[in-house]
Amino acid sequence: MATVRNWARNQACVPTAVERPRTTGEVAALVRRAHVAGRRVKAIGAGHSFTAAAMTNGVLVSLERLNRLVAVDRERGRATVQAGITLKALGDELAAAGLAMPNLGDINVQSVAGAINTATHGTGLELGNLATTIVAMEFVDGTGDVVRCDADRHPELLRVARVGVGAMGIVTEVTIQCVPAFNLHAHETIEPLDDLLDGFDEFATSADHAEFFWMPGTRRCQVKRNRRTEAPARPPSRLAYARDKYVAENIAFDLVCRTGRRFPALAPKIAKLVSGVASERDLIDRSDKVFASPRLVKFVEMEYGVPIEAVPEALRRVRDLAQTLSFPTLFPIEVRVSAADDIPLSTGFGRANGWIAVHQYRGAPYESYFQGVESIMNDYDGRPHWGKLHFQSAATLRDRYPEWDGFQSARARVDPDGTFSNDYLDRVLGPTG
Ligand SMILES: Cc1cc2nc3c(=O)[nH]c(=O)nc-3n(C[C@H](O)[C@H](O)[C@H](O)COP(=O)(O)OP(=O)(O)OC[C@H]3O[C@@H](n4cnc5c(N)ncnc54)[C@H](O)[C@@H]3O)c2cc1C
Repeated sequence: MATVRNWARNQACVPTAVERPRTTGEVAALVRRAHVAGRRVKAIGAGHSFTAAAMTNGVLVSLERLNRLVAVDRERGRATVQAGITLKALGDELAAAGLAMPNLGDINVQSVAGAINTATHGTGLELGNLATTIVAMEFVDGTGDVVRCDADRHPELLRVARVGVGAMGIVTEVTIQCVPAFNLHAHETIEPLDDLLDGFDEFATSADHAEFFWMPGTRRCQVKRNRRTEAPARPPSRLAYARDKYVAENIAFDLVCRTGRRFPALAPKIAKLVSGVASERDLIDRSDKVFASPRLVKFVEMEYGVPIEAVPEALRRVRDLAQTLSFPTLFPIEVRVSAADDIPLSTGFGRANGWIAVHQYRGAPYESYFQGVESIMNDYDGRPHWGKLHFQSAATLRDRYPEWDGFQSARARVDPDGTFSNDYLDRVLGPTG
Protein backbone atom coordinates (compact mmCIF):
# COMPACT_ATOMS: atom_id res chain seq x y z
CA MET A 1 0.00 0.00 0.00
CA ALA A 2 1.04 3.59 -0.61
CA THR A 3 2.17 5.85 2.22
CA VAL A 4 -0.45 8.33 3.46
CA ARG A 5 0.79 11.68 4.84
CA ASN A 6 -0.87 14.56 6.62
CA TRP A 7 -0.92 18.14 5.28
CA ALA A 8 2.20 19.21 7.17
CA ARG A 9 3.97 16.00 6.04
CA ASN A 10 5.25 15.39 9.57
CA GLN A 11 3.07 12.25 10.01
CA ALA A 12 2.90 9.21 7.76
CA CYS A 13 1.38 5.74 7.79
CA VAL A 14 0.97 2.72 5.53
CA PRO A 15 -2.60 1.43 5.92
CA THR A 16 -3.50 -2.12 4.93
CA ALA A 17 -6.35 -0.66 2.86
CA VAL A 18 -7.88 2.72 2.07
CA GLU A 19 -11.68 2.70 1.77
CA ARG A 20 -13.82 5.46 0.30
CA PRO A 21 -17.42 4.55 1.18
CA ARG A 22 -20.37 6.37 -0.40
CA THR A 23 -23.03 5.50 2.17
CA THR A 24 -23.43 4.96 5.90
CA GLY A 25 -24.27 1.34 5.07
CA GLU A 26 -20.89 0.89 3.38
CA VAL A 27 -19.12 2.39 6.41
CA ALA A 28 -21.05 0.03 8.72
CA ALA A 29 -20.20 -2.99 6.55
CA LEU A 30 -16.48 -2.27 6.43
CA VAL A 31 -16.28 -1.64 10.18
CA ARG A 32 -18.17 -4.89 10.84
CA ARG A 33 -15.75 -6.83 8.62
CA ALA A 34 -12.72 -5.24 10.30
CA HIS A 35 -14.12 -5.86 13.78
CA VAL A 36 -14.71 -9.54 13.05
CA ALA A 37 -11.19 -9.84 11.63
CA GLY A 38 -9.71 -8.00 14.64
CA ARG A 39 -8.38 -5.15 12.50
CA ARG A 40 -8.21 -1.50 13.48
CA VAL A 41 -10.06 1.17 11.49
CA LYS A 42 -9.38 4.91 11.35
CA ALA A 43 -11.35 7.70 9.71
CA ILE A 44 -9.48 10.50 8.02
CA GLY A 45 -10.86 13.88 6.96
CA ALA A 46 -8.65 16.36 5.15
CA GLY A 47 -5.51 15.15 6.97
CA HIS A 48 -4.91 18.60 8.47
CA SER A 49 -4.02 17.44 11.96
CA PHE A 50 -0.40 17.85 12.94
CA THR A 51 -0.69 14.91 15.32
CA ALA A 52 -1.00 11.29 14.17
CA ALA A 53 -4.70 11.38 15.11
CA ALA A 54 -5.79 10.18 11.67
CA MET A 55 -2.91 7.77 11.00
CA THR A 56 -3.23 3.98 11.05
CA ASN A 57 -1.57 0.79 9.93
CA GLY A 58 -5.01 -0.78 9.76
CA VAL A 59 -7.90 0.21 7.49
CA LEU A 60 -8.06 3.91 6.66
CA VAL A 61 -11.53 5.27 5.84
CA SER A 62 -11.75 8.49 3.88
CA LEU A 63 -15.11 10.23 4.11
CA GLU A 64 -14.43 12.34 1.02
CA ARG A 65 -17.35 10.79 -0.89
CA LEU A 66 -19.76 11.39 1.97
CA ASN A 67 -19.74 15.11 1.29
CA ARG A 68 -23.29 16.29 0.57
CA LEU A 69 -25.80 18.60 2.16
CA VAL A 70 -28.66 16.33 3.30
CA ALA A 71 -31.33 18.76 4.50
CA VAL A 72 -31.94 22.30 5.71
CA ASP A 73 -34.48 23.10 8.42
CA ARG A 74 -34.95 26.82 7.78
CA GLU A 75 -37.37 27.29 10.65
CA ARG A 76 -34.84 26.11 13.23
CA GLY A 77 -31.79 27.28 11.29
CA ARG A 78 -30.32 23.79 11.14
CA ALA A 79 -28.41 22.00 8.41
CA THR A 80 -27.81 18.26 8.18
CA VAL A 81 -24.70 17.30 6.23
CA GLN A 82 -22.68 14.21 5.51
CA ALA A 83 -19.62 14.15 7.72
CA GLY A 84 -16.97 14.38 4.98
CA ILE A 85 -18.16 17.73 3.61
CA THR A 86 -15.46 20.40 3.82
CA LEU A 87 -16.00 23.60 5.77
CA LYS A 88 -15.61 25.50 2.49
CA ALA A 89 -18.40 23.55 0.77
CA LEU A 90 -20.49 23.79 3.94
CA GLY A 91 -20.08 27.58 3.93
CA ASP A 92 -21.32 27.81 0.35
CA GLU A 93 -24.32 25.54 1.04
CA LEU A 94 -25.25 27.48 4.16
CA ALA A 95 -24.93 30.85 2.43
CA ALA A 96 -27.30 29.64 -0.30
CA ALA A 97 -29.81 28.82 2.47
CA GLY A 98 -29.30 32.17 4.25
CA LEU A 99 -27.36 30.53 7.07
CA ALA A 100 -23.83 30.47 8.43
CA MET A 101 -21.61 28.87 11.05
CA PRO A 102 -21.41 31.18 14.08
CA ASN A 103 -17.61 30.92 14.09
CA LEU A 104 -14.79 29.24 12.19
CA GLY A 105 -11.04 28.81 12.44
CA ASP A 106 -8.63 30.38 10.01
CA ILE A 107 -8.80 27.79 7.23
CA ASN A 108 -11.79 26.04 5.64
CA VAL A 109 -10.42 22.93 3.99
CA GLN A 110 -11.05 20.56 6.92
CA SER A 111 -13.89 18.06 6.88
CA VAL A 112 -16.71 18.77 9.31
CA ALA A 113 -16.15 15.46 11.12
CA GLY A 114 -12.39 16.00 11.37
CA ALA A 115 -12.84 19.53 12.66
CA ILE A 116 -15.33 18.66 15.39
CA ASN A 117 -13.44 15.55 16.50
CA THR A 118 -10.42 17.63 17.53
CA ALA A 119 -12.53 20.53 18.91
CA THR A 120 -11.36 22.90 16.18
CA HIS A 121 -12.05 26.48 17.23
CA GLY A 122 -11.88 30.04 16.00
CA THR A 123 -11.64 33.11 18.18
CA GLY A 124 -14.39 34.86 20.15
CA LEU A 125 -14.99 34.97 23.88
CA GLU A 126 -18.71 34.33 23.44
CA LEU A 127 -18.26 31.45 21.00
CA GLY A 128 -17.53 27.79 21.60
CA ASN A 129 -15.62 25.50 19.27
CA LEU A 130 -17.21 24.01 16.16
CA ALA A 131 -18.40 20.88 17.98
CA THR A 132 -20.67 22.97 20.20
CA THR A 133 -22.91 23.62 17.18
CA ILE A 134 -23.73 19.92 16.70
CA VAL A 135 -27.29 19.03 17.74
CA ALA A 136 -27.58 15.55 16.19
CA MET A 137 -25.17 12.97 14.95
CA GLU A 138 -25.09 9.63 13.17
CA PHE A 139 -22.05 7.40 13.61
CA VAL A 140 -20.96 3.82 13.13
CA ASP A 141 -19.78 2.20 16.34
CA GLY A 142 -16.86 -0.20 16.81
CA THR A 143 -18.94 -3.28 16.03
CA GLY A 144 -20.44 -1.85 12.84
CA ASP A 145 -23.80 -0.73 14.24
CA VAL A 146 -25.28 2.62 13.23
CA VAL A 147 -26.02 4.91 16.19
CA ARG A 148 -28.21 8.02 15.89
CA CYS A 149 -28.20 10.51 18.71
CA ASP A 150 -29.88 13.85 19.36
CA ALA A 151 -31.82 15.57 22.16
CA ASP A 152 -34.23 12.59 22.37
CA ARG A 153 -32.18 9.57 21.30
CA HIS A 154 -29.05 8.82 23.34
CA PRO A 155 -28.49 12.46 24.37
CA GLU A 156 -25.74 11.28 26.74
CA LEU A 157 -23.80 9.89 23.76
CA LEU A 158 -24.30 13.03 21.71
CA ARG A 159 -22.84 15.09 24.55
CA VAL A 160 -19.66 13.02 24.52
CA ALA A 161 -19.28 12.07 20.84
CA ARG A 162 -19.15 15.65 19.55
CA VAL A 163 -15.45 15.73 20.49
CA GLY A 164 -14.34 12.13 20.16
CA VAL A 165 -10.76 12.52 18.86
CA GLY A 166 -11.74 9.76 16.44
CA ALA A 167 -12.37 7.30 19.29
CA MET A 168 -16.16 7.54 19.42
CA GLY A 169 -17.05 5.93 16.10
CA ILE A 170 -16.98 6.96 12.47
CA VAL A 171 -19.23 9.97 12.15
CA THR A 172 -21.30 9.79 8.97
CA GLU A 173 -23.79 12.64 9.38
CA VAL A 174 -24.23 15.67 11.63
CA THR A 175 -26.92 18.29 12.17
CA ILE A 176 -25.53 21.74 12.84
CA GLN A 177 -27.28 24.57 14.67
CA CYS A 178 -26.45 27.50 12.41
CA VAL A 179 -27.12 31.23 12.67
CA PRO A 180 -28.61 33.57 10.07
CA ALA A 181 -26.01 34.54 7.45
CA PHE A 182 -24.00 37.60 8.49
CA ASN A 183 -21.25 39.87 7.26
CA LEU A 184 -18.09 40.64 9.17
CA HIS A 185 -16.22 43.90 9.28
CA ALA A 186 -12.55 42.94 9.41
CA HIS A 187 -10.15 45.52 10.76
CA GLU A 188 -6.44 44.71 11.03
CA THR A 189 -3.99 46.92 12.88
CA ILE A 190 -0.46 46.88 14.22
CA GLU A 191 -0.22 47.24 18.03
CA PRO A 192 2.48 46.81 20.68
CA LEU A 193 2.57 43.41 22.39
CA ASP A 194 2.90 44.90 25.86
CA ASP A 195 -0.29 46.95 25.42
CA LEU A 196 -2.20 43.84 24.34
CA LEU A 197 -0.94 41.81 27.28
CA ASP A 198 -1.43 44.58 29.86
CA GLY A 199 -5.05 44.93 28.75
CA PHE A 200 -5.71 41.37 27.68
CA ASP A 201 -9.28 41.23 29.08
CA GLU A 202 -10.20 44.37 27.15
CA PHE A 203 -8.52 43.00 24.05
CA ALA A 204 -10.45 39.72 24.30
CA THR A 205 -13.78 41.57 24.40
CA SER A 206 -12.82 44.29 21.94
CA ALA A 207 -14.55 42.52 19.02
CA ASP A 208 -16.77 39.51 18.35
CA HIS A 209 -13.63 37.79 17.08
CA ALA A 210 -10.29 39.18 18.29
CA GLU A 211 -6.86 37.64 17.74
CA PHE A 212 -3.28 38.69 17.30
CA PHE A 213 -0.08 37.39 15.75
CA TRP A 214 3.23 38.18 17.35
CA MET A 215 6.65 37.41 15.92
CA PRO A 216 9.15 36.50 18.68
CA GLY A 217 12.03 38.95 18.67
CA THR A 218 9.77 41.89 17.86
CA ARG A 219 7.49 44.17 19.88
CA ARG A 220 4.62 44.69 17.49
CA CYS A 221 1.66 42.46 16.71
CA GLN A 222 -0.70 42.13 13.82
CA VAL A 223 -4.14 42.42 15.42
CA LYS A 224 -7.29 41.15 13.73
CA ARG A 225 -10.68 42.25 14.94
CA ASN A 226 -13.78 40.96 13.16
CA ARG A 227 -17.11 42.51 14.11
CA ARG A 228 -20.58 41.54 12.97
CA THR A 229 -22.15 44.19 10.79
CA GLU A 230 -25.39 44.88 8.94
CA ALA A 231 -23.42 46.81 6.32
CA PRO A 232 -23.17 45.41 2.80
CA ALA A 233 -20.08 43.53 1.67
CA ARG A 234 -17.08 45.62 0.69
CA PRO A 235 -14.64 42.82 -0.21
CA PRO A 236 -11.06 43.48 -1.28
CA SER A 237 -10.39 43.60 -5.00
CA ARG A 238 -9.01 40.40 -6.48
CA LEU A 239 -5.68 42.11 -6.84
CA ALA A 240 -5.59 43.27 -3.22
CA TYR A 241 -6.66 39.81 -2.03
CA ALA A 242 -3.95 38.15 -4.14
CA ARG A 243 -1.35 40.65 -2.91
CA ASP A 244 -2.22 40.25 0.79
CA LYS A 245 -3.26 36.62 1.00
CA TYR A 246 -1.07 34.92 -1.59
CA VAL A 247 1.97 37.12 -2.19
CA ALA A 248 2.55 38.62 1.29
CA GLU A 249 1.17 35.87 3.56
CA ASN A 250 2.37 32.92 1.52
CA ILE A 251 4.86 33.42 -1.32
CA ALA A 252 7.01 36.16 0.24
CA PHE A 253 6.58 34.66 3.69
CA ASP A 254 7.76 31.25 2.44
CA LEU A 255 10.84 32.89 0.99
CA VAL A 256 11.81 34.61 4.24
CA CYS A 257 11.18 31.42 6.25
CA ARG A 258 13.29 29.41 3.82
CA THR A 259 16.09 31.94 4.18
CA GLY A 260 15.81 31.84 7.98
CA ARG A 261 15.95 28.04 8.00
CA ARG A 262 19.13 28.12 5.89
CA PHE A 263 20.76 31.08 7.66
CA PRO A 264 19.47 31.10 11.27
CA ALA A 265 21.77 34.00 12.16
CA LEU A 266 19.59 36.20 9.96
CA ALA A 267 16.48 35.29 11.95
CA PRO A 268 16.26 38.47 14.05
CA LYS A 269 16.31 40.57 10.90
CA ILE A 270 13.77 38.23 9.34
CA ALA A 271 11.53 38.52 12.37
CA LYS A 272 11.48 42.29 11.97
CA LEU A 273 10.86 41.92 8.25
CA VAL A 274 7.93 39.56 8.81
CA SER A 275 6.33 41.81 11.39
CA GLY A 276 6.95 44.75 9.08
CA VAL A 277 5.12 42.99 6.21
CA ALA A 278 1.93 42.96 8.28
CA SER A 279 -0.18 45.90 7.21
CA GLU A 280 -3.47 47.50 8.15
CA ARG A 281 -6.53 46.16 6.32
CA ASP A 282 -10.21 47.05 6.45
CA LEU A 283 -12.97 45.21 4.61
CA ILE A 284 -16.48 43.78 4.92
CA ASP A 285 -17.40 40.37 3.53
CA ARG A 286 -19.48 37.23 4.05
CA SER A 287 -18.49 35.81 7.43
CA ASP A 288 -17.01 32.51 6.22
CA LYS A 289 -14.91 34.33 3.64
CA VAL A 290 -13.47 36.62 6.29
CA PHE A 291 -12.66 33.78 8.69
CA ALA A 292 -10.68 31.64 6.25
CA SER A 293 -7.38 32.36 4.51
CA PRO A 294 -5.25 30.22 2.19
CA ARG A 295 -2.33 28.56 3.99
CA LEU A 296 0.24 27.42 1.45
CA VAL A 297 3.38 27.62 3.57
CA LYS A 298 3.91 24.35 5.43
CA PHE A 299 4.63 24.45 9.14
CA VAL A 300 4.16 22.47 12.33
CA GLU A 301 2.13 23.77 15.23
CA MET A 302 1.37 23.30 18.91
CA GLU A 303 -1.58 25.12 20.49
CA TYR A 304 -2.53 25.27 24.15
CA GLY A 305 -5.70 26.50 25.80
CA VAL A 306 -5.16 28.08 29.22
CA PRO A 307 -7.50 30.05 31.50
CA ILE A 308 -7.89 33.57 30.06
CA GLU A 309 -6.28 35.25 33.05
CA ALA A 310 -3.11 33.17 32.57
CA VAL A 311 -2.42 34.38 29.02
CA PRO A 312 -0.31 37.50 29.74
CA GLU A 313 2.06 35.73 32.13
CA ALA A 314 2.25 32.56 30.02
CA LEU A 315 3.01 34.50 26.83
CA ARG A 316 5.67 36.60 28.55
CA ARG A 317 7.31 33.37 29.67
CA VAL A 318 7.18 32.09 26.09
CA ARG A 319 8.83 35.35 25.02
CA ASP A 320 11.66 34.72 27.51
CA LEU A 321 11.97 31.13 26.34
CA ALA A 322 12.18 32.16 22.67
CA GLN A 323 15.24 34.27 23.48
CA THR A 324 17.11 31.24 24.79
CA LEU A 325 16.53 28.88 21.86
CA SER A 326 19.55 27.70 19.90
CA PHE A 327 17.51 27.71 16.69
CA PRO A 328 15.27 30.72 16.15
CA THR A 329 11.51 30.80 15.73
CA LEU A 330 10.63 31.58 12.13
CA PHE A 331 6.85 31.75 12.49
CA PRO A 332 4.59 34.10 14.46
CA ILE A 333 2.70 33.07 17.61
CA GLU A 334 -1.09 33.30 17.36
CA VAL A 335 -3.27 34.27 20.33
CA ARG A 336 -7.04 33.67 20.40
CA VAL A 337 -9.90 33.15 22.87
CA SER A 338 -12.94 30.87 23.04
CA ALA A 339 -15.95 30.20 25.28
CA ALA A 340 -16.53 27.40 27.76
CA ASP A 341 -18.65 24.36 26.87
CA ASP A 342 -19.91 21.10 28.40
CA ILE A 343 -18.36 18.49 26.10
CA PRO A 344 -16.27 16.11 28.24
CA LEU A 345 -13.17 15.92 26.03
CA SER A 346 -13.45 19.42 24.61
CA THR A 347 -10.52 21.69 25.36
CA GLY A 348 -13.20 24.20 26.37
CA PHE A 349 -14.84 21.92 28.96
CA GLY A 350 -15.94 24.06 31.89
CA ARG A 351 -13.78 27.07 31.10
CA ALA A 352 -13.15 29.81 28.59
CA ASN A 353 -9.71 29.52 27.04
CA GLY A 354 -7.01 31.85 25.92
CA TRP A 355 -5.13 30.09 23.13
CA ILE A 356 -1.40 30.32 22.52
CA ALA A 357 -0.31 28.69 19.28
CA VAL A 358 3.36 28.29 18.43
CA HIS A 359 4.56 27.33 14.98
CA GLN A 360 7.77 26.48 13.25
CA TYR A 361 8.57 26.44 9.54
CA ARG A 362 8.60 22.94 8.11
CA GLY A 363 12.02 21.31 8.28
CA ALA A 364 13.36 23.69 10.95
CA PRO A 365 14.01 22.31 14.47
CA TYR A 366 10.99 22.75 16.72
CA GLU A 367 11.27 20.10 19.46
CA SER A 368 13.02 22.07 22.20
CA TYR A 369 10.87 25.14 21.46
CA PHE A 370 7.61 23.17 21.68
CA GLN A 371 8.76 21.19 24.72
CA GLY A 372 9.68 24.41 26.49
CA VAL A 373 6.31 25.94 25.65
CA GLU A 374 4.51 22.83 26.81
CA SER A 375 6.22 22.88 30.18
CA ILE A 376 5.11 26.51 30.61
CA MET A 377 1.53 25.58 29.67
CA ASN A 378 1.59 22.70 32.17
CA ASP A 379 1.86 25.31 34.93
CA TYR A 380 -1.52 26.77 33.89
CA ASP A 381 -3.45 23.51 33.52
CA GLY A 382 -3.00 23.86 29.75
CA ARG A 383 -5.01 21.66 27.44
CA PRO A 384 -3.40 20.85 24.09
CA HIS A 385 -5.40 21.04 20.88
CA TRP A 386 -6.09 17.41 19.95
CA GLY A 387 -5.05 17.98 16.35
CA LYS A 388 -1.82 19.86 17.05
CA LEU A 389 1.55 18.63 18.28
CA HIS A 390 2.05 17.96 21.97
CA PHE A 391 3.94 15.50 24.14
CA GLN A 392 1.19 14.61 26.66
CA SER A 393 -0.13 11.14 27.51
CA ALA A 394 -3.32 9.79 29.09
CA ALA A 395 -1.55 9.90 32.45
CA THR A 396 -0.78 13.62 32.19
CA LEU A 397 -4.08 14.59 30.57
CA ARG A 398 -6.72 12.84 32.68
CA ASP A 399 -6.63 15.33 35.55
CA ARG A 400 -7.15 18.21 33.13
CA TYR A 401 -10.57 16.88 32.09
CA PRO A 402 -13.04 16.58 34.99
CA GLU A 403 -15.25 14.16 33.00
CA TRP A 404 -12.38 12.03 31.70
CA ASP A 405 -13.80 8.85 33.25
CA GLY A 406 -17.25 9.57 31.84
CA PHE A 407 -15.70 9.90 28.40
CA GLN A 408 -13.88 6.61 28.82
CA SER A 409 -17.10 4.80 29.84
CA ALA A 410 -18.90 6.15 26.77
CA ARG A 411 -15.93 5.16 24.60
CA ALA A 412 -15.93 1.62 26.03
CA ARG A 413 -19.66 1.41 25.31
CA VAL A 414 -19.37 2.36 21.61
CA ASP A 415 -15.97 0.79 20.90
CA PRO A 416 -15.50 -2.08 23.38
CA ASP A 417 -12.66 -3.72 21.45
CA GLY A 418 -10.67 -0.66 20.45
CA THR A 419 -11.47 -0.92 16.74
CA PHE A 420 -10.91 2.85 16.37
CA SER A 421 -7.68 3.00 18.37
CA ASN A 422 -4.34 3.90 16.85
CA ASP A 423 -0.92 4.74 18.26
CA TYR A 424 -1.97 8.32 18.96
CA LEU A 425 -5.07 7.29 20.92
CA ASP A 426 -3.14 4.59 22.76
CA ARG A 427 -0.86 7.39 23.96
CA VAL A 428 -3.30 10.21 24.71
CA LEU A 429 -6.41 8.27 25.80
CA GLY A 430 -4.98 4.87 26.74
CA PRO A 431 -6.66 1.58 25.91
CA THR A 432 -10.44 1.47 25.55
CA GLY A 433 -12.25 0.29 28.66
C1 LIG B 1 -3.02 25.16 8.06
C2 LIG B 1 -3.86 24.72 9.24
C3 LIG B 1 -4.67 25.63 9.89
C4 LIG B 1 -5.45 25.24 10.99
N1 LIG B 1 -6.24 26.17 11.60
C5 LIG B 1 -6.93 25.82 12.71
C6 LIG B 1 -7.73 26.77 13.41
O1 LIG B 1 -7.84 27.92 13.02
N2 LIG B 1 -8.36 26.35 14.56
C7 LIG B 1 -8.23 25.09 15.03
O2 LIG B 1 -8.79 24.78 16.08
N3 LIG B 1 -7.54 24.15 14.35
C8 LIG B 1 -6.90 24.48 13.21
N4 LIG B 1 -6.18 23.53 12.54
C9 LIG B 1 -6.26 22.14 13.00
C10 LIG B 1 -7.37 21.39 12.27
O3 LIG B 1 -8.57 22.15 12.24
C11 LIG B 1 -7.67 20.07 12.97
O4 LIG B 1 -6.52 19.30 13.09
C12 LIG B 1 -8.77 19.28 12.28
O5 LIG B 1 -9.03 18.12 13.03
C13 LIG B 1 -8.42 18.88 10.86
O6 LIG B 1 -9.56 18.40 10.20
P1 LIG B 1 -9.41 17.24 9.12
O7 LIG B 1 -10.68 17.11 8.37
O8 LIG B 1 -8.19 17.45 8.33
O9 LIG B 1 -9.26 15.98 10.08
P2 LIG B 1 -8.09 14.91 10.16
O10 LIG B 1 -6.84 15.56 10.54
O11 LIG B 1 -8.09 14.10 8.93
O12 LIG B 1 -8.62 14.03 11.39
C14 LIG B 1 -8.67 14.59 12.67
C15 LIG B 1 -9.30 13.60 13.64
O13 LIG B 1 -10.67 13.43 13.31
C16 LIG B 1 -10.95 12.06 13.10
N5 LIG B 1 -11.96 11.96 12.07
C17 LIG B 1 -11.93 12.44 10.83
N6 LIG B 1 -13.07 12.14 10.19
C18 LIG B 1 -13.82 11.45 11.07
C19 LIG B 1 -15.11 10.84 11.03
N7 LIG B 1 -15.85 10.89 9.94
N8 LIG B 1 -15.55 10.21 12.12
C20 LIG B 1 -14.80 10.12 13.25
N9 LIG B 1 -13.59 10.66 13.34
C21 LIG B 1 -13.11 11.32 12.27
C22 LIG B 1 -9.61 11.45 12.69
O14 LIG B 1 -9.58 10.06 12.90
C23 LIG B 1 -8.68 12.21 13.59
O15 LIG B 1 -8.74 11.66 14.88
C24 LIG B 1 -5.42 23.89 11.43
C25 LIG B 1 -4.61 22.96 10.77
C26 LIG B 1 -3.83 23.36 9.68
C27 LIG B 1 -2.97 22.36 8.96
